[in-house]
Amino acid sequence: MSKTIAAIASGNAPGGIGVIRISGDRAIEIASSVFSPADGSSLTELKGYRAKFGNIILDGSKADNAVALVFRAPKSYTGEDVAELSIHGGMLALKNTLEAVFAAGAQSAEAGEFTKRAFLNGKIDLTQAESVAQIISAQGEAELKASFNALHGVLSDEINLVLEKLLDMSALMAAWVDYPDEEIPELTETELEENLEFSAAKLKKLLDNYESGQTITCGVETVIAGRPNAGKSSLMNMLSKTEKSIVTHIEGTTRDIVEDSVRLGDIVLHLKDTAGLRNSEDLVESIGIEKALGAIENAQLVLAVFDLSQRLSEDDFKLIEKCKGKNAIGVINKTDLEAKMDVSVIENAFESVVYISAKNNEGLEELSKAVYNLLGVADFDSNAPLLANLRQKQNCQKAYESICEALNGVKTGVTFDAINVMIDSAADELLSLTGKKATSEVVNNIFSKFCVGK
Ligand code: GDP
Repeated sequence: MSKTIAAIASGNAPGGIGVIRISGDRAIEIASSVFSPADGSSLTELKGYRAKFGNIILDGSKADNAVALVFRAPKSYTGEDVAELSIHGGMLALKNTLEAVFAAGAQSAEAGEFTKRAFLNGKIDLTQAESVAQIISAQGEAELKASFNALHGVLSDEINLVLEKLLDMSALMAAWVDYPDEEIPELTETELEENLEFSAAKLKKLLDNYESGQTITCGVETVIAGRPNAGKSSLMNMLSKTEKSIVTHIEGTTRDIVEDSVRLGDIVLHLKDTAGLRNSEDLVESIGIEKALGAIENAQLVLAVFDLSQRLSEDDFKLIEKCKGKNAIGVINKTDLEAKMDVSVIENAFESVVYISAKNNEGLEELSKAVYNLLGVADFDSNAPLLANLRQKQNCQKAYESICEALNGVKTGVTFDAINVMIDSAADELLSLTGKKATSEVVNNIFSKFCVGK
C-alpha cells in the first residue's frame, strides 16, 4: 500500500480558486473526512470522473465551499485514486484545509511526487514527465507547444519507433546466433543496413534539431551594445514595451547592466542593456563598461546599435571589431533623423543589418526576422519531435554513435554477435531516455526539479 500524499496543486499565491490534490489508496477516504457533499451523499461512494459540490468541514463546522473531484485508479493523473478539492484560493484557507488533510492521514507530497507516481505507474514515460515541468516553466509560445507535444508523446513515439527496430533486429540476430539450426527468418545484410540507416537518420534529425530547440526553449542571452546615446535603452524599451531602462539625454546614464526577458514572437530574449561603450573617467561607469565588454564576449546574440544621425566614431569601430565572429546584428537606429553615417561600413561588417527608429517603434518586425534567421530558427517546427534537455540529448547521441558503429561494422564484415552488442547498447540508451531503464538516481534528479503539487 503506497502512502497517500497531498499538496496544494495550484501554486503558492492567492487566486480565485485553489486546489488541493490528494493521491494514493486512501485519497478519497481522506478527502471525505474534510469534505461533505451538499446533497448528503458520501464522497467514498462516488464513481471516478465525478464531482460534488459541498463544504470543507474543519473542527466540526463549515469552513469553506468546495468542489470535490474524484478519479479512480488507474484512470487518474498518477494512476492511483485521486481526489481534488477546489476551494477559495486564499493561502490561509488552503493551508487550513491541507493541514486537516494531513491530520486525516495524508503525508506531504515531495517536489514532483504526483508526476513521479504517474511515471512509476506507467502513465507517462520520462520524456513526458520532463515535458510537464517544461509546460509549467514555459515562457515562449513555441516552447509551450513543443512541451505540450512532448507530453502527448510526439518525442516518445519517435524514440519508440527506433527502439522497436533495434529490438527486432537484436532479437532476430540473437536467435540466429544462438539457434543456428532452427528455421529463423534470415536477416540479410541489406535489411540490417536499411534498418540501421533508418534508425541513424531518425536520431540524427533529432540531434540536428536540438540546438534550435534549445534556442527556442531556453531563450537567448542577448546583449544590446553601442556607444552612449545610440539608443540602446530605447531599443530595450521598444522590445520590452516597458520603461525599465532609463532613457535620457545625459551620456552614460545606463551605468550598470539592466536585464529583462522579452518575447520576440516565438522566442525569448534575455536582454542585457549595457553601459555605453566608451572610455570613461567615471569609476562606476567604467565598471559598467567592463561588464558590457564581458557581456558581449559571453552573449549568444549581440544587437550592436549605431546612431544613423551621427558619423561613425572610434567607439563604433571598436564595437564593430568586438562583434567580429559573434552572432551579431548591426542595428542602425534613428532612421527618423537625417542620415550622417556611412552605412556601407555597417553593411559590410555585419552579416545582418536592420534599420529601426526605436523612438517611433519602427522596425521591430524586420529585427525579429533578422534574429530568427541569424539564430537559424526561422523554419523551426514546434510540432516536430524535440529533445528537451541535455540528458535526453546525451542518450540520443550515444545511441546514434552505437548505431553508426554497427552500420560501419556491417559494411566491414564484423560478426553478427559483435554487431548485436552495438545494437543492444544503442537500445539501452534509448530505454534510459524514455525511462524504461533509467537509474533511480536519474529519476530522482529529474523529479527533484519539479515544484511541489505537480
Ligand atoms: P543609450 O545611451 O544608447 O541607451 O541611448 P538612449 O536610448 O538613452 O537614447 C539616447 C537619446 O536618443 C534619447 O534622447 C532618445 O530619446 C533618443 N533616441 C533613441 N532612439 C531614437 C530614435 O529612433 N530616433 C530619435 N530621433 N531619437 C532617438
